[in-house]
Amino acid sequence: MPELPEVEATRQLLEPAMRGARFDRVLLRRADLRRAFPPDFAARLTGTTVDAVTRRAKYLVLPLSSGETLVMHLGMSGDFGVQSRERAASAAPPPPRAHDHVVFEMSSGCVVTFTDPRRFGVMDLLTREALSAHETLVGLGPEPLSPEFDAAALARACARRRVPLKVALLDQRVVAGLGNIYAVEALHLAGLSPSRRASTIATPTGKPRPTAMRLVAAIKKVLTTAIARQSNTTYRSAFAEATADESARFRVYDREGEACPTRGCAGVIRRSVQGGRSTFACRICQR
Ligand SMILES: [Zn+2]
Repeated sequence: MPELPEVEATRQLLEPAMRGARFDRVLLRRADLRRAFPPDFAARLTGTTVDAVTRRAKYLVLPLSSGETLVMHLGMSGDFGVQSRERAASAAPPPPRAHDHVVFEMSSGCVVTFTDPRRFGVMDLLTREALSAHETLVGLGPEPLSPEFDAAALARACARRRVPLKVALLDQRVVAGLGNIYAVEALHLAGLSPSRRASTIATPTGKPRPTAMRLVAAIKKVLTTAIARQSNTTYRSAFAEATADESARFRVYDREGEACPTRGCAGVIRRSVQGGRSTFACRICQR
């Protein structure tokens, strides 16, 4: 399932192809993804210009010159491909693949194709009012890579939470879109136990303790590293499941029984379940 780094890498892929460009032609190869496309979706997009290609949590958010906003979610298996139009129109263009559901022909000369074998993706076209009332986007906490997400903000959000720290990190009101894998990774990097109470990273008055600073730095580090790796991957398959290669990129996630990667630590990675999600941690160096 695409996590925040994959969605950010997708945003970076789409930005040069779509920002400032007009939708010349929109092809829908079916009537729905997870749910039906908005009414007159292709007609409402055609002729409008993309003002920006932004991301909020795991949503791609594209404000348009029409005043509406295109909101897209990759779901379980969604992926975008970008091709130049000359290339797409060249001598022997490949036939559309079975799961290419949406094609945007942009005035930039790029053809943007959305592929989604499992069809849990979402495309929505929202008015300003609908956007500001969006059930998921409203109430999201700060973006983990934004300057607003700092030790003070995290401590403030955790100060009154009596839940385990890992559970707090998955709460979208605390930090937006971090996801299970990167919460596990960041806690290990910061040397903090997933099961310690969330409020322990703040003082009684809600000020950040050094643990909050370590955790914020670790979250930014694991995400930045993952985004850089994603952006460097030239071949990204819509069908990609976690392969052996892919799991090699994690410190502790999915590494039950392996030696802890912390230098000088003799611990072993253990798996547990918190709030219905798998957690991987070392009981020696994570306190
Ligand atoms: Zn350890």
